[in-house]
Amino acid sequence: MFNVRKAVILGAGLGSRLRGTLDDRPKGFLKLGNRPIIEESIAKLVRTGIIDIVIVTGYCHEFYDQLSEKYPFVRTILNPDFATTGSMLSLYTASQYVNSDFLLLESDLVYEYNALQTLQNYPKDNCILLSGKTGAGDEVYVGVSHDRVVNMSKRRDEIKCLGGELVGISKISLDLYKQMTDIAPEKCKHSSQYQYEDCLVDVSDNVTIHYQCIDNLAWIEIDDGNHLSKAREKIYPLIEQRDSEIIISKKVERNVLLNPGPATTTDTVKYAMVVNDICPREKEFGDLVEGIRQDLVRIVHGEGVYESVLFASSGTGVVEACLSSAVPHDKSVLIINNGAYGKRMQQICNGYGISHIDYNIEWGKPVDCNKVETLLEQYKRDISHIALVHHETTVGMLNDITTISRTAARFGVEVIADTVSSYAGIPIDVKDSEIHYLMASANKCIQGMAGLSFVICKKESLEKTKEIKPRNFYFNLYQNYSFFTQKHEMQFTPPVQIFYALRQAINEYFLETEQSREKRYAEMHEVLENGLQMLGFRFLVEKRFRSKILTAIIEPEDENYSFSEMHDFLYKRGFTIYPGKGATQNTFRIANMGAITKSDITQFLGHLEEYVLKKDIKLR
Ligand SMILES: *Cc1c(COP(=O)(O)O)cnc(C)c1O
Repeated sequence: MFNVRKAVILGAGLGSRLRGTLDDRPKGFLKLGNRPIIEESIAKLVRTGIIDIVIVTGYCHEFYDQLSEKYPFVRTILNPDFATTGSMLSLYTASQYVNSDFLLLESDLVYEYNALQTLQNYPKDNCILLSGKTGAGDEVYVGVSHDRVVNMSKRRDEIKCLGGELVGISKISLDLYKQMTDIAPEKCKHSSQYQYEDCLVDVSDNVTIHYQCIDNLAWIEIDDGNHLSKAREKIYPLIEQRDSEIIISKKVERNVLLNPGPATTTDTVKYAMVVNDICPREKEFGDLVEGIRQDLVRIVHGEGVYESVLFASSGTGVVEACLSSAVPHDKSVLIINNGAYGKRMQQICNGYGISHIDYNIEWGKPVDCNKVETLLEQYKRDISHIALVHHETTVGMLNDITTISRTAARFGVEVIADTVSSYAGIPIDVKDSEIHYLMASANKCIQGMAGLSFVICKKESLEKTKEIKPRNFYFNLYQNYSFFTQKHEMQFTPPVQIFYALRQAINEYFLETEQSREKRYAEMHEVLENGLQMLGFRFLVEKRFRSKILTAIIEPEDENYSFSEMHDFLYKRGFTIYPGKGATQNTFRIANMGAITKSDITQFLGHLEEYVLKKDIKLR
């Protein structure tokens, strides 16, 4: 259970003792592994539940500003006087963004994850992290009395009772921060080099500042060439090794789910659900929901124009919510059905008595956009909406949503898109694609837990549905939307813990980035497709229509083949596969969504081959 959700990183410094090595980059952009150390620090912060990072910049601030474009949860603020002032002025500069407790870090630190975990787990709200002897050369020694910090100095002989060496990672409460910023302006006037450490000591009579010392913590602050070589040769490899062993307190046994959702999740998403009990009508929970609502819109680039409405339900629930709330009583919806999910939309409409015109296509065959146009023309007086599935998970086919919605736009018809199995796996731009409603759930490509789904609505369209006499109750889009926006509470009891998991999953999505997630999925698909082809399997969907997220494989006709036996064989080895459903030919399905990698797919193919050989199944 991690309570602090914000971090402030001090990144203004010049790094003058590293000039040659840095060549016009800030110190945070030194590289020891694959990524600059600041990005490694950000990744660790996200893993420990931080969702809001403020970086105070100065020297070469453009580098950090680019980070805030890459990671939407990162904001930068410039200390224009960075060259002549101490770190307290930088910390003071962040005040407009600080409205809660936070972790304070320096940008040139390399540290093991345990540093953050220790502070987050520490039960009191002000805590400075200390380590045992480092021999760094410019150590800051911290003097303590009982359980509190009393002074700090670079001179060992000025410390009476040594608590340890200052690491540069601290947990600061809002109250402590207020005390610091109250005295800072005056102090900075007297001493231009006033540091945040000085300020901590100055307020330590009024506020109790605790400390935690980890004796053998692997960490280093990189100030000069010697530090850099020591980091490269000794500390960084040690950090990598330790972090790989204890990412979080206990690893959960890992299953690779190759079914189309719920997908495999990270341990950090699983553990995000372990939170203190909270009433979802408290403001704190409302803030969590509001942040999630905004970020869900951001994932499909709908900022400013779209709103998200969340429901406690599986994906089908929000498809139902959308159709039953959006289509006016005197109008019809054109439903494209080339798989079970298209058909499901027709079934929902039947249930509510919503008038629908069906365009039915054999499952596994693509949509003919000319036919859509013909139908829109033919029924133009009746049709107000067109509903279709983006990624038809029944067969792994990607429907050309943009072409279809642009055609719809010419007829003034609004678009309802089931993007349950593509959202966050395939980039979607709602504004560019002219989609009015988009539905998805938390447990597929966004890699959260099952139990929560959402509709992303064009605000203008959503507002119009207010006039439609409700044919539903729990699932009314406008009611749920207006309740939340007015009261900052969900209308009905939400699945509280699933929200925390989704918060973490969204953070991990932004951390991975849209492009990298798409690429990871596409690469897994390629490995899968090649491997299956080598074994002699055949595919249902023509290559150019494949989604790269799910593959429908034609079942072998060999009498030794049995899906359930193959399933059990693979299941025992940690891989879950999925049966097919109602396509033109019998299939089974393999999805490659979730927190899985190419090497999982390779291992899976190995087991599949083992099975095929063992049973002597003829595939050609
Ligand atoms: C998974 C999925 C759904 C929703 O299914 P639930 O079992 O209700 O979560 C809807 N549409 C598509 C395309 C899907 O893949």
